[in-house]
Amino acid sequence: MSPTNIIVIIIALIFFVLAFILIKTLLFARKSDSIFIPFKYGVPRFAQDPQVLAEHLSSVIKIQTISHEDAKEDVVENFVTMQALLAKTYPLTHKNLQKELVDGHTMIFTWEGKEPSLNPVVFMAHQDVVPADEYTLDQWTYPPFSGKIADGFIWGRGTMDIKCQMISVFESVEALLAAKFKPDRTIILTFSHNEEVLGTGAMAVVKHLKEKGVRVEAVIDEGGAVYDGIIPGVKGYVATIGISEKGYLSLKFTVQATGAHSSTPPKETAIGILSRAITRLENNRFPTDVRMVKPMFQGLGGAASPMMQMAFANLWLFGGIIAKILSAKGETDATIRTTTAPTLFHSGVKDNMLPSVAEAVVNFRILPGQSIADVCEYIRFVIKDKRVTFEPMDQKAWEASPLSPVDGNAYRHIASVIGEIWPGSAVAPYIMLGGTDSRNFCEISDCVYRFIPMVVNEEDLDRIHGVNERIGIDEFHQMADTLYRVMVRWSQKEL
Ligand SMILES: [Zn+2]
Repeated sequence: MSPTNIIVIIIALIFFVLAFILIKTLLFARKSDSIFIPFKYGVPRFAQDPQVLAEHLSSVIKIQTISHEDAKEDVVENFVTMQALLAKTYPLTHKNLQKELVDGHTMIFTWEGKEPSLNPVVFMAHQDVVPADEYTLDQWTYPPFSGKIADGFIWGRGTMDIKCQMISVFESVEALLAAKFKPDRTIILTFSHNEEVLGTGAMAVVKHLKEKGVRVEAVIDEGGAVYDGIIPGVKGYVATIGISEKGYLSLKFTVQATGAHSSTPPKETAIGILSRAITRLENNRFPTDVRMVKPMFQGLGGAASPMMQMAFANLWLFGGIIAKILSAKGETDATIRTTTAPTLFHSGVKDNMLPSVAEAVVNFRILPGQSIADVCEYIRFVIKDKRVTFEPMDQKAWEASPLSPVDGNAYRHIASVIGEIWPGSAVAPYIMLGGTDSRNFCEISDCVYRFIPMVVNEEDLDRIHGVNERIGIDEFHQMADTLYRVMVRWSQKEL
């Protein structure tokens, strides 16, 4: 073959590859009209006065429904008081829906649909909040349990996480009942009382429904939000809907050794052996899997930069570079791998005594697609030391959730309402790094979505579980309006 022919072949090959990359990029971005479903509501618009709405939220913020790891520390009266207040604020809901309590103070409300043969839909939130750190109390503009309405905001613990969603659900039902609305499907509301600690409330709800043979069509709980300027390289609002969440596994590692006097130590000690094992785990992180973030960039479509679109459309070529960029920062690294976090380390009682046991706890967050068994196998492979044993801590191990579909009507109705409330915003599915109560519902539903209809900017992220938690009065009204519309859409038999 002549040199000219070789050059021609190389140029043709380069063109072919470039054309392939270009076509994959053009086909990648999801067209927004393929996810939106036009809808005629047939009920009045959500018309609650924003000020009254704010007062309703404020009234429950004032009640300190803090949950504790040791449930005995919970102030039970506060949950009772808040539920009594809700009954007073939402009389139609309490008159027309059946209320049940499980696991103590977790509430279930059932609004019987016209067609009992249809699977119900579930709207969730939780009643409990985390405490306000006493060392930061002086940094709050208004005290954390004041429920102060000022400067255009409602302030206090639970305004963002997540009494706002609970109140929005109640407001939606109350308004729909006032409008004489009758859902085709049964609507179930559930609000647990210990999401921030044990999560047994939501487990009890699912057990209760399973015993009744209930299969759920779709679930919405807290999760992603409408992000303003948080996702790099993307302009405008991006609403992220959680379609799965990572698994959770806290393993207790133990090394037993013969205790001895520190004047005659053996070559290896319990502390040394365990430390090496933990170091090996840190040095050999779980492999990355960038496919997990692909649906999100696909959902972003034209909102993502052309470079981003090209890279994600061609993971076969750019997967390595993307993994490198994402793994550079803790927050993004956690989106593409099972993470390893040593959180507790105990050993020894006296400075001149060798301990007979060393213990550590490592918390793993498992990427969907991997199982607890896979994680344990990898750990054994990395540590390569039979003297180090490990076992899951009680109630501290659950698998990653399956991925809920993004092409079904339940997802598309949420996306459509987002398009109505925040026109022009991108809607993207994602895998949540943290956990929610809703994961328990994966046992009885294929469509579990995690979304808080609330605009959140970079600064707001620190307010959740932090100082000066607050929600704008108008933003809160939009949130209730969103859930109102989703409720009407989801309750139709055509879902
Ligand atoms: Zn929460």
